[in-house]
Amino acid sequence: MDNAAPRRDNALMQRALIIGGGLNGPALALALAKAGLEPVVLDALPAETRAAPGFDGRAYALAHASVRLLKALGIWGAVAAEAQPIEEIKVTDGVAGEGAGPFWLHFERGALEEGPMGQMVEDRHLRPALLAGLEAAGIEHRAGVRVVAQQAGPGTASVTLEDGTELTGTLIVGADGRRSGTAERAGLKRRVTDYGQSAVTCAVAHERPHEGVAHQFFMPGGPLAILPLAGNRSSIVWSETTARAEALMAMDEPAFLAALRPAFGDHLGKISLASKRFAYPLGLSLAERFIAPRVALVGDAAHGLHPLAGQGLNAGLRDVAALAEVLSAAAQRGEDIGAAATLARYQSWRGFDTQALALATDGFNRLFSNDNPLLRAARGLGLGLVSAVPGLRRSLMREAAGLTGDLPPLMR
Ligand SMILES: Cc1cc2nc3c(=O)[nH]c(=O)nc-3n(C[C@H](O)[C@H](O)[C@H](O)COP(=O)(O)OP(=O)(O)OC[C@H]3O[C@@H](n4cnc5c(N)ncnc54)[C@H](O)[C@@H]3O)c2cc1C
Repeated sequence: MDNAAPRRDNALMQRALIIGGGLNGPALALALAKAGLEPVVLDALPAETRAAPGFDGRAYALAHASVRLLKALGIWGAVAAEAQPIEEIKVTDGVAGEGAGPFWLHFERGALEEGPMGQMVEDRHLRPALLAGLEAAGIEHRAGVRVVAQQAGPGTASVTLEDGTELTGTLIVGADGRRSGTAERAGLKRRVTDYGQSAVTCAVAHERPHEGVAHQFFMPGGPLAILPLAGNRSSIVWSETTARAEALMAMDEPAFLAALRPAFGDHLGKISLASKRFAYPLGLSLAERFIAPRVALVGDAAHGLHPLAGQGLNAGLRDVAALAEVLSAAAQRGEDIGAAATLARYQSWRGFDTQALALATDGFNRLFSNDNPLLRAARGLGLGLVSAVPGLRRSLMREAAGLTGDLPPLMR
């Protein structure tokens, strides 16, 4: 027997160093704290910058399962009053210069017994709610600190900050977005595809109520989503070639609205801008594996997807719920949360699903973002067929609402 072996400090054994305080990092920290573990959140940006209302112009279509997670984490109450239920979804194929085409894929209201298909939540409400949640739960959150190095030893893991400070735990979680330094330092390779597209996003006010209907128009330059927000407002996510997106960003409001109008249509009456415009470059960024010794990746650090199906954050929150479940089960058994066997359970839970989702969104974008007449005919036929087969439509609807697959307990 080796009497000289160092005694394991139980608190240290359960300490997770989360690099990234965007959306998935704080959500994971809340889930781990709830399970009695000790998370630390580290972010390069000051908290006030991230919580400022003009920081990020996105609005998220949150699937049922994601809303359940936010409820379990005690965050939903802070955003519910500003959330807009998605009651219906209409998908159509657009033609260059002609606007929306005739083939509809329609997910009608009342079709899911669980209620609306999802909820639209604006970043300016969700991000501050998550950051406030960290504070309320007394979770250590170091803001304005950049992680520049990491080490994984046999029983511990540590990170080094730009000012030389070293922090130790047993697990490092990379929640540091699609250019994840955590993944790079751990030697995790990723597939990166630049779509040559950018998404222009903003809120638009309109004359008539949207009735909770979300529209997705597949236009030749890329998809245009019109997503209902609280009040007579909608969020648009307009994917275009990068050159066209740059031109749209440079336009003044009347010119921008004139460019948007033919694609947006007139079903909501007069439109005006209700926020600043933001542009996000689009690409696929998919890590080959989500784990390395004492390292796990969640959210965009693991998989940066095209926003066309509105699944990026939903997939990230699934990672969060699955990793929290795996780590808390390990801790309950008295196991080391950073052990290879523990992390392997996370990889096998999330790896395959996420690769499949990433490839599906990638294929969809390639199929729809062009004006080839043959492909257009095939797309129209495909959308028409899905619409005509109720079983298929229903299973797609349940998939979009995040109600299928092996759901972690926090999402059930
Ligand atoms: C236009 C658009 C619309 C979208 N709409 C939807 C939608 O409707 N539904 C949906 O589910 N998803 C949607 N998404 C996807 C969603 O926005 C992302 O999946 C989500 O924001 C990713 O969050 P994250 O926390 O993983 O990463 P990020 O938000 O990228 O956060 C990473 C954090 O890590 C920090 N960081 C990085 N490096 C370091 C370092 N070295 N040290 C310390 N900190 C560091 C950064 O400061 C940052 O705060 C959309 C995306 C786009 C572009």
